[in-house]
Amino acid sequence: MAQVTTGTTVHDVVVIGSGAGGGTMTKVLADLGVSVLLLEAGPMLNPADLKEHMWPYEAPNRGAGPHGEAYTGGRTGFSYSATYGGAQLEGEPYTVAPGSDFSWFRSRILGGRTNHYGRVTLRMSDYDFKPRSTDGLGWDWPISYQDLAPYYDKAERFIGVTGTTEGIRSAPDGIFNPPAALRAHDTIVQRACAKLGIRAVAARQAVTTIARNGRPACHYCGQCGRGCKTASNYAASYVQIFPAMQTGRVQVVANAMARELLTDETGKVSAVSYVDKTTGTEKQVRCRTVVLAASACESARLLLNSKSPRHPQGLANSSGKVGRYLMDTVGSSLSAQVPALSGMPRYNSDGYGSHLYVPWWLWDKHKSLNFPRGYHIEVGGGYGMPGIGSFTGSVNRAEGYGLKMKQAIRDDYGTSIGLSGRGEMIPNEQSFCEIDPNVKDSFGIPVLRFHWGWSEHELNQVRHMQQTFREILESMGGRIAPGGARGGGAGQAQTTGTGPQRGAQAPQTGQAGPQTGQTNAPAGQPTSAGPMAQADIPGRPPISRGGAIIHEVGTVRMGDDRQTSVLNRFCQAHDVKNLFVADAAPFVSNADKNPTHTIVALAWRTAEYLAAELKKANV
Ligand SMILES: Cc1cc2nc3c(=O)[nH]c(=O)nc-3n(C[C@H](O)[C@H](O)[C@H](O)COP(=O)(O)OP(=O)(O)OC[C@H]3O[C@@H](n4cnc5c(N)ncnc54)[C@H](O)[C@@H]3O)c2cc1C
Ligand code: SF4
Repeated sequence: MAQVTTGTTVHDVVVIGSGAGGGTMTKVLADLGVSVLLLEAGPMLNPADLKEHMWPYEAPNRGAGPHGEAYTGGRTGFSYSATYGGAQLEGEPYTVAPGSDFSWFRSRILGGRTNHYGRVTLRMSDYDFKPRSTDGLGWDWPISYQDLAPYYDKAERFIGVTGTTEGIRSAPDGIFNPPAALRAHDTIVQRACAKLGIRAVAARQAVTTIARNGRPACHYCGQCGRGCKTASNYAASYVQIFPAMQTGRVQVVANAMARELLTDETGKVSAVSYVDKTTGTEKQVRCRTVVLAASACESARLLLNSKSPRHPQGLANSSGKVGRYLMDTVGSSLSAQVPALSGMPRYNSDGYGSHLYVPWWLWDKHKSLNFPRGYHIEVGGGYGMPGIGSFTGSVNRAEGYGLKMKQAIRDDYGTSIGLSGRGEMIPNEQSFCEIDPNVKDSFGIPVLRFHWGWSEHELNQVRHMQQTFREILESMGGRIAPGGARGGGAGQAQTTGTGPQRGAQAPQTGQAGPQTGQTNAPAGQPTSAGPMAQADIPGRPPISRGGAIIHEVGTVRMGDDRQTSVLNRFCQAHDVKNLFVADAAPFVSNADKNPTHTIVALAWRTAEYLAAELKKANV
């Protein structure tokens, strides 16, 4: 048996994973005087590596890859985007059950996916916490909007979120800092929506437009997805963990891949076993309490892999619900070329990604709709700095070559508008993850196998999205391109040539830079849809593949009933009182609101509870 090194220190709290949940947990605990050992599977983030100000010509072969992979469909590496992740991670496969289609985007770096996420930052509404009471589907959360609102407040004050006060029930107002001005394409969308009686409002983004906590205000370079050297946008790494480390109460162990939670004779977690990726050796750290924040599915995987005679179904799994009720956001997009934008004088429309969004406007009309839950619309377009691959679509549309081709591309650039729907999925019995009995990763850890199924609720919602997008785009005179309707997100199949130029797609969520369009196919286990997303199945409306919007939540849900839930209302395991979960795994439903703001607020609340329980010696 390989030698295992066990430390002698018993750490008050070991946090596993450093994304939105782990970063918040670490910062709040450290500020409350609690010492934290943070285990992170990826390396430390070096802010010097962030690429937001890099020009395309500075990337090797202009980002096409050493062998022109960008043109042949291969992987181009991270030379331009600094995403540190994707659906394919070397040595870390997952599998997908026959008949299912799922893509699992992970990031391995301090701060996880918050380093490059879209930063759409939306509060859940009061009714989002009580879906079953509203329409009889899914389950209610054990907490209400009033329980979480003070933590949304704290998060917004600390992080900085843009927005305006609107008084819309489906989009609760927060503590906003001033948003950037709307751009020409935003104004066109806002007017087109107004004609249809739909309100479009300032985007709510985790970007500070005023200096705070030593972070300068955003300088509107428009490249948030590639990092932010000034830390003006939110990433757990530079906004939470680096400052927390300065308290002297936080120790970060990078390149530490947690394998299993070990329990003592009382059933409590006593240690975490991890693989030190730099040496390949197995180590253990002892703990008084542990917080799982490795992302929803990875946290479920850790629990399911932590079997013992006392916990034969995996840790904290007496209910059998670990891994169940996996949800993603419903995604669908449509784009059009808008003649009103042709020939317009060029101006700098960089900003910080999206400046406009459309909250769900029919929240009180569901009785007259054929789907029970809502969606919001994200807007893409503008003359943003061309990036690598920006003109692929234009090149395929334009005739000729040389000057004529260049002029055609110049005329076309920035004249498309893309609308992306982000809708609520209802948890179902077909969508879950479990341990694959036959496949292990390169560390010898059993991997996850995904099962996935959309229901008619989501398909009908997508039909409504497409109809609405068409009406909005046509009311501004837009010409919808063949291939303009897509499922969207990181699992989106590549459309070659017919789609709009890159600037027209809503860039903020589920856009995965150079990895977009890759499928995860561990050796011998092709995903059921191959390179085709579910969006492309004939007869189906264009819906994203499961996981493609990168909002996977659920799997270790909270609830008051220990028979049907894993965690209590403070995200503490019913079965194991020194075990907490602080990512999106505790989510009971997946409202149309992008999940990260709720992950942060929930983790903040859990951290305060845990600190108080530690003080009272209750855990
Ligand atoms: C391109 C993109 C765009 C997005 N846009 C938005 C958006 O606009 N708005 C929004 O709300 N959300 C968005 N998301 C989703 C958002 O990034 C996630 O909701 C959020 O980062 C989840 O936080 P987390 O802490 O649960 O997990 P993560 O951010 O994934 O962090 C988990 C961390 O745990 C580490 N880890 C995993 N396993 C282990 C292990 N076994 N041992 C030790 N460490 C481990 C990982 O390396 C990682 O650092 C987007 C995501 C992507 C990729
Ligand atoms: S747009 Fe603002 S927040 Fe985004 S990377 Fe540039 S400076 Fe940072």
